[in-house]
Amino acid sequence: MNNFIGVDIGGTNCKVVVINENGDVLHELQTPTLASQGRDRVLANIADIINNLKSTIKQKVIAVGVTAPAVLNMDLGTIELIPNFPDATAWENFNLREQLIERTNLSIHLLNDARAATYGEKMFGAGKDYSDFISIIIGTGIGGGIISNNELFLGSRGAAGELGHQTVIPWGPRCGCGNNGCLESVASGPAITTAAIRCILQGFSTNMRSLVDGDINKVTPELVSKAAEMGDPFAIEILKDVAQYFCIVINNLKAMLNPQAIIFGGGIAQSEFLLDEIEAQLRDKINLDTDSTGNIAIKKAKFNHLAGAIGAAAWAMKKSNESVTLR
Ligand SMILES: [Zn+2]
Repeated sequence: MNNFIGVDIGGTNCKVVVINENGDVLHELQTPTLASQGRDRVLANIADIINNLKSTIKQKVIAVGVTAPAVLNMDLGTIELIPNFPDATAWENFNLREQLIERTNLSIHLLNDARAATYGEKMFGAGKDYSDFISIIIGTGIGGGIISNNELFLGSRGAAGELGHQTVIPWGPRCGCGNNGCLESVASGPAITTAAIRCILQGFSTNMRSLVDGDINKVTPELVSKAAEMGDPFAIEILKDVAQYFCIVINNLKAMLNPQAIIFGGGIAQSEFLLDEIEAQLRDKINLDTDSTGNIAIKKAKFNHLAGAIGAAAWAMKKSNESVTLR
């Protein structure tokens, strides 16, 4: 059976998988990206990993999918913008595909990280039974992807699915993208943490304070979720507000795309409290039919930290099959 490598270049860690055509993960590894050591070091590191895997795997490696938290030019194989990397300007217009082909002698296919995770869910995960779904990936930022008629919907430049940058509060807080009031600015991990810190600093009687021994540096979205599950009214209020913003976005997406399911991935989607609250608000206020009434399902993603890498490998498989068909 043919094998495919998926590489997910994150700001901190690089995750790599080898999958076969059934989507079974045959190898997985994680290594520091070394982004602070500069572009060429990152590139050399990735090429070494791919070459090592290629020489140790018994069955043939056909192609490699590479994903990054970046705006990519999928036709040219270049990185256009990778905002979270310290030497971001060195990466601008850098032809990652060409450089990796030169160093590994394998076909290389690029895809944005959230779109890759979405595609992985479609091929082998929680979305495999749906022809139309939306994935929402909640972490430090909020990414997403759209599967329409069984295909990944990419738009003109591969950027379709940037769900985190929909406006939910006109003239709201500034977002990293330069706009104001995006979903990401009020419902991402940092937004949840910031809201909790504000509660503690303003002297509200929240048990989030005692959970971090008064040290606001220890506040995380996971802690807010834990406090909400324990019944803390301030943590509950924060997550109810966050759920409300997600509901605005989901309602808009529902009107535009008529999905069968919404699939939540990313670290913060592990919060049962938040997902339950989103589903409850959707049922109560937005008249979103869910599983029980037979229309839109709310699901958790199957793949967690390896979602991007598995999706990238699945994308490489798709692209290789297409080029075989064309020949
Ligand atoms: Zn934004």
